[in-house]
Amino acid sequence: MSELRGVGIGRGVAQGPVVRMAEALPAPENTPSTREADTERTRARDAVAAVAADLQKRAEAAGGAAQEVLEAQAMIAEDPTLQDEVDARIDDGASAEWAVHDAFAGFRATLEAVGGYLGERAADLDDIAQRVLARLQGVPAPGVPDPGHPFILVARDLAPADTALLNLDQVLALVTTDGGPTSHTAILARAKGIVAVVGAVDAAGLDDGTMVIVDASAGTVVSDPDSAQLERAAQRAAARDAAAHAPLTPGALADGTEISLLANLGKPADAADAVSRGAEGVGLFRTEFLFLSSSQAPTVEEQRASYQELLSAFPGKKVVVRMLDAGADKPLAFLNDAHEENPALGLRGLRSLRASEDILREQLTALAEADAATQADLWVMAPMVTTVEETKYFTDLAREFGLKTAGVMVEVPASALLADRVLAHADFASIGTNDLTQYTMAADRMLGSVAGFQDPWHPAVLRLVAEVGAAGARTGKPVGICGEAAADPLLAVVLVGLGATSLSMAPAALADVRHALSERSLDEAQRLAEVALAADDAAGARKAVAEATASLPSHQKETTS
Ligand code: PEP
Ligand code: MG
Repeated sequence: MSELRGVGIGRGVAQGPVVRMAEALPAPENTPSTREADTERTRARDAVAAVAADLQKRAEAAGGAAQEVLEAQAMIAEDPTLQDEVDARIDDGASAEWAVHDAFAGFRATLEAVGGYLGERAADLDDIAQRVLARLQGVPAPGVPDPGHPFILVARDLAPADTALLNLDQVLALVTTDGGPTSHTAILARAKGIVAVVGAVDAAGLDDGTMVIVDASAGTVVSDPDSAQLERAAQRAAARDAAAHAPLTPGALADGTEISLLANLGKPADAADAVSRGAEGVGLFRTEFLFLSSSQAPTVEEQRASYQELLSAFPGKKVVVRMLDAGADKPLAFLNDAHEENPALGLRGLRSLRASEDILREQLTALAEADAATQADLWVMAPMVTTVEETKYFTDLAREFGLKTAGVMVEVPASALLADRVLAHADFASIGTNDLTQYTMAADRMLGSVAGFQDPWHPAVLRLVAEVGAAGARTGKPVGICGEAAADPLLAVVLVGLGATSLSMAPAALADVRHALSERSLDEAQRLAEVALAADDAAGARKAVAEATASLPSHQKETTS
């Protein structure tokens, strides 16, 4: 038995034999072309156009998040700058094959040098180049193998075109050696609920046919497991499957303590899916989607229509809408200064809205109108609130617009440490663990090289959550969690033990978290929280809580009939 590590995507566990993805086509020879330049140019263009059309076709077949990714790839394939680079090489006497290979490699190097999110797009370019080369050479494009039995797919990185159309009856799990938590493989695996571990560098040494257990919640790949490990993994997979099909009851602990389970949404169109998965409302509606593709803020009327569509999907239910959170990982040309050296520490979130208060006022106007026209219980909150003064500024302003429930996101250690004073003004706090972790650990959440620090299990982060939880209990105000941490079933129990009164997450995570909460009483959740706080680091906290949980009695008989 041996174990290797990467970044787990989702919470699933799967077991099966490894099948490796075929290696890439070899780089073409850089020998001068014997054809006319015009002929080579036409060959290159035809091949690129055919690949773009194929990607577009796959996009339509895939739908959803995959469709957007594949359409973006089709656009990259036909990028005019890339086309010019290919033509320039052909004019210098190169073959179409070499020109495509070299031009795409140049573009890839530029993206990699930029790093972060763009760096993780490098694999997309490799895939397009490989498809064009295969087309030029008249050979099949490299892709997912089909061994005729279910398998664990091990690859360097998967192209979106492959991930989008994976046959989930055959591919039990994905393991990649490259890519990080924001790579397209990770994004699509999350959206499709595929068990995946990405960035597992040592998976390059796994041979075809090796039996492995892929554990996404632990971020591990165990090869040649013993029968006890296989049995445990099978039990966990079965429990997960059962949870996915369990009745959509409201979130509650084993002792009946209610913990609302809410959805994180990015656009109103996603509301129906959240409702069908039992979301009791919305804990975080990210309004950025309305703004991201525009060069200026959408009109009040456009915003009202969108908010109204969202609120209409949740009559009588709580819907927490976050004011525009621009800057750092979500820059907007009309709100942010692109030349800030440290945008995560710059004029972002509420700070940038305050600097352009007209945009904030328009957003509040649109929300107040949508609220008046619908039956949902609208709560509004400001992102990236750092001080008590900012809290008072935002909550006063929201009330000026007749919005009765106004709160703040706690994403900065400063506001967590002064949570009692923040909650003296705010009606509620919602902890954004993604940013709270980034700022507590001083690690850019977009940077693969420091991804190891971006772990909300770190006791330093948990101590800040405890601070907010205690302040919520003292002031009698709700404390929600809306970062990725809430989607981790084991951590969700700990967060409740630290004082969270609601949890908001990607709808796909609701079933697992509902099940995890139903197994623990409040007293047990508090004891597990103590165990996590007592650890020295994130890995220690996770391990200690997993062990302590395993030794607790099961409450299943109380919660299932
Ligand atoms: C967070 O920071 O945890 C959060 C929920 O906000 P976002 O991920 O949109 O920054
Ligand atoms: Mg945030």
